[in-house]
Amino acid sequence: MASVPRDKPSFHMDPEEFRKHGHDVVDWIADYYQRIESFPVLSRVKPGDVRASLPAEAPRGGEPFERILQDFDKLILPGVTHWQSPNFFAYFPSNASGASILGDLLSSGLGVQGMLWATSPACTELETLMLDWLARALGLPEKFLSTSKGGGVIQDTASSATLCALLAAREQATSFESNRAGMQQKLCAYTSTQGHSATEKAIGVAGIGRDFLRLIEVDETFAMNAAALARAMQQDRESGLIPFFVCATSGTTSSNAIDPLREIGPACQEFGAWLHVDSAMSGTAALCPQFRHINDGLEYADSYCFNPHKWMFTNFDCDCFYVADRKLLIQTLSVLPEYLRNQASESGAVIDYRDWQIPLGRRFRSLKLWFVLRYYGIEGLQFHIREHVRIAQQFASWVSDDARFELAAPVPLNLVCFYLKSGDEANERLLEALNRSGDLYLTHTRLNGRFTLRMCVGQTNTTERHVERAWRRIQEEASRL
Ligand code: PLP
Repeated sequence: MASVPRDKPSFHMDPEEFRKHGHDVVDWIADYYQRIESFPVLSRVKPGDVRASLPAEAPRGGEPFERILQDFDKLILPGVTHWQSPNFFAYFPSNASGASILGDLLSSGLGVQGMLWATSPACTELETLMLDWLARALGLPEKFLSTSKGGGVIQDTASSATLCALLAAREQATSFESNRAGMQQKLCAYTSTQGHSATEKAIGVAGIGRDFLRLIEVDETFAMNAAALARAMQQDRESGLIPFFVCATSGTTSSNAIDPLREIGPACQEFGAWLHVDSAMSGTAALCPQFRHINDGLEYADSYCFNPHKWMFTNFDCDCFYVADRKLLIQTLSVLPEYLRNQASESGAVIDYRDWQIPLGRRFRSLKLWFVLRYYGIEGLQFHIREHVRIAQQFASWVSDDARFELAAPVPLNLVCFYLKSGDEANERLLEALNRSGDLYLTHTRLNGRFTLRMCVGQTNTTERHVERAWRRIQEEASRL
């Protein structure tokens, strides 16, 4: 049946084999980072290519590890878009670093499932501490610390954080009746026209209904108009609806606009609405005191999240989600079947993070954060964040100086939205030509109805050299159109 040697008592990889293959894999990753710039950033495979190159069924017998690794190189790698290439400027980054990869590897090695404090105390306690370390390093309000009424938890993504915030807000608004009896009241949520689609998804999933999400107009910087928000909440209240949740964004996906939290906060208070602040990518910038203004007014927020897996050199997935009142979140998400009961939980002295998230199970994700924070130190992180912002600002100045182009939005941090003045079609063709070349990867958005190019500088190893080359390539392709 299998091609496993007869003298072997099992099909498992033993520790010595693991050591050998593990070294090969680490070597492979190190080589990958050395040669990463030789790959086209955006994968060139066509739909179905990868699947067609693989057998239709799983092998009956086990195969040598070397052969699997060879096939990985030959069959999988061509279908990979290189998010860790320093020439990746698309979307927002989802960056990684050596320290994070190795921390994550240890997490895989331990294979811990930390649903309860008791199922691995270090998994819970390190997470609580890392979230506190980060809250302090970012200058977040005291109420988000675990030593206050609030605290932080690692979610997989900002989308999950938004959903958890929205569910807790729903329960707060309905005195925990929605959890028990289902939705009886009509609630209404708000985000700006530039807010992330995660809120739309969450409001559907939470049973409130997408019709009850209001997209609030923005000002000329694409930031939410707080007066329009207050008007919308007033109107809904007059129609018998309950404004219950506002998602403000500190660094929107399209253009990195910063919503005015200091104006939005009082409006939320007036209407009793939960304020969630989504700073998925830009939140990392607050590590540097000079960029902390992006969180001005955060003291009004009931919850906040940012993704170290975007810009803080930490592998996907890692979203840090903070609440000002942990009791509300826990009461929203907690269910206690007999088989999870244990003395530590019942003592009330420990955190069980299963009650802070949708799934039950959870990985030991704080290990990679611990490795990153210790390896770089806050100063190391600040250095690289400042560099990315500096280089992005330089790119913005090159765009401004070229009469063929214009900036399409303010550039508060590391995202530059720009437009080739010859029209949408030219911008589409320019994007297509650049991405097809494999030299870099950019994506687009629509701002004021125009097809706008986005250049986000945030990949771990992106330096001035890469951005200079990207600008040269953009100019060359623009000349060829
Ligand atoms: N919020 C903002 C502002 C984002 O930019 C993104 C993704 O880019 C998200 C939420 C969703 O991120 P995630 O993949 O962590 O759910």
